[in-house]
Amino acid sequence: MLDTTMLFGFSHSSTVRGTVPRIVTCSNCNQRFGYELHVRGTGSSFSPWLLGFKEASESAGDEARQDFIRRAASANALTSMPVEDLRSSLNAVPCPHCLHYQPDMIRMLKKRHLIWVAVLGWGLLIFGSLQSYSAVTDPFGSDHTMPPQAIALMVVGATLVALKIVLSARLSPNEQPQDAREALARARTTVLDE
Ligand SMILES: [Zn+2]
Repeated sequence: MLDTTMLFGFSHSSTVRGTVPRIVTCSNCNQRFGYELHVRGTGSSFSPWLLGFKEASESAGDEARQDFIRRAASANALTSMPVEDLRSSLNAVPCPHCLHYQPDMIRMLKKRHLIWVAVLGWGLLIFGSLQSYSAVTDPFGSDHTMPPQAIALMVVGATLVALKIVLSARLSPNEQPQDAREALARARTTVLDE
């Protein structure tokens, strides 16, 4: 896929998506189950103007395919790449035997929980800091103090970042309603041992 047109050439990026089976031995009950993991591979390359345009485009595609194959191969528990490194949004499923999530799945769910709150918080923090910096260093400014609205933005931003950290730490996927975990396990997993 061609995504950017630039003055000096073209950058190419390519994405390959697919599903691979992943076999997990549950860390809680020690029984095995399988589920389909959604994996994404990416690649990119650059061609100066139209020189090597086709080759660069193909090379981005090859890189994406290789990246996909590497991640797909690692998806199996035998090579155990943690689920958060496999780039998927649908990788957390409860064990069909005991309904527990695995530790790497919990880490991923915590990381992604309310991620937009952290992004908003950091945005306000950076925006407030830039405003303060330009006010303090303004050569034509009368008083070189931080404007109150910039301080307020930074306080709100820092509070949001802290809130996301606290709420993520308190997230407990294994305590979510049992029927919801049961339904998810039934829909997404295959029982391998009884
Ligand atoms: Zn289990």
